[in-house]
Amino acid sequence: MSALMSVEQALAELLGLARAAPFTARESVAVGDADGRVLAEDLQAALDLPPWDNSAMDGYALRLDDLAAGPLPVSQQVFAGQAPAPLRAGSCARVFTGAPVPAGADCVQLQENCSVDEQGRVVSLTALRRGDNIRRQGNEIRAGTPLLAAGTLLRPVALGVLAAQGIAQVMVLRRPRVALLSSGDELAQAGAVLQPGQIFDSNRVLLATLLERLGCEVVDLGRVADDARQVRAVLAGARDCELIISSAGVSVGDADCIGALLRETGEVKLWKLAIKPGKPFTFAQLGSVPLLGLPGNPGSALVTFLLLARPYLLARMGVARVAPPRVPVVAGFAWPKAGKRQEYLRVRLEGGRARLLENQSSATLLSAVQADGLLEVPAGETFAAGDILDFIGFDGLGL
Ligand code: AMP
Ligand code: MG
Repeated sequence: MSALMSVEQALAELLGLARAAPFTARESVAVGDADGRVLAEDLQAALDLPPWDNSAMDGYALRLDDLAAGPLPVSQQVFAGQAPAPLRAGSCARVFTGAPVPAGADCVQLQENCSVDEQGRVVSLTALRRGDNIRRQGNEIRAGTPLLAAGTLLRPVALGVLAAQGIAQVMVLRRPRVALLSSGDELAQAGAVLQPGQIFDSNRVLLATLLERLGCEVVDLGRVADDARQVRAVLAGARDCELIISSAGVSVGDADCIGALLRETGEVKLWKLAIKPGKPFTFAQLGSVPLLGLPGNPGSALVTFLLLARPYLLARMGVARVAPPRVPVVAGFAWPKAGKRQEYLRVRLEGGRARLLENQSSATLLSAVQADGLLEVPAGETFAAGDILDFIGFDGLGL
């Protein structure tokens, strides 16, 4: 047991390997198609934002010093999209949200804080300060300053930022080609008729969609039997991929062909981690292609993908923050028996507390559907109800 590598150390080693083998191929895509992609260039702001002083509210733009002279006549109306004339001295301008503030005006009074007299002149009913309700030019960003850095994971908000700069095309990383296979004689494809002793392959669709969410192009190598020659042939066919991800067959049983092959012909860098579920997790270099060997049990495949494979892939993409976000939560149950491995419990958050889902078997996926995420229990630790632990939410992982 003491030979098991800690999750922390395994992750550090994986990230080191990943940073040393970054994906570099780039392509230009339309900003509207860039959701989930990784920016491959440093971008500077091309313009000040806002590009000019504009009104934050519907109201009246005026010069503060003019207010003392009494009610102000309205000398012009400015809607968003119009270009105003300079403010005539001793007057105000009717302005609407987003409209440029006329030169010479130094504040905007909200329309609800004004009264208008019989001659249509405006009286301010509340005190004002210079700059009130004006969104200043360059207040969000200045032209020529850094906008987004290479390695930014582009999400809808980032795409909005690019669009605001008038950017229509961006350089992103090409989708990494990831070969995916399931291993095991017992696996049948959903849709087929289940033969005695068979189970349906759940890992491949689970992992394929997780990979696609990370912006990968999945090369589906299908299901491979527990047969050394077949495994070798299929893996040889993935030589042009940037990564191979397999599930199952990495333990030391007689049928664990992938593990056997990796130990024979590859360079096994990580194997057997102090993680539950997920102990058989393997990382090996197979010729020029790295291989992540995930455990076969679906719950284990899920947990090791989220905690290890995902950060590894993000690191190769040049993303800076790769570890799953952890937040403290209150345990709604006790954990009186310390485990030897760091454990990830499927929990549901209810009333601000983590409730343990009943089925924690590594063989089950269903309880992970009901879960909001994983509660991290360090090896060798116990806790009482009410204690605070780290929680990794599925939301934060895009699930
Ligand atoms: P193994 O690591 O090959 O011993 O597999 C561990 C367990 O996971 C076994 O019960 C397998 O039947 C199961 N398993 C392996 N691959 C899959 C898969 N793709 N989908 C669902 N279960 C699997
Ligand atoms: Mg197997």
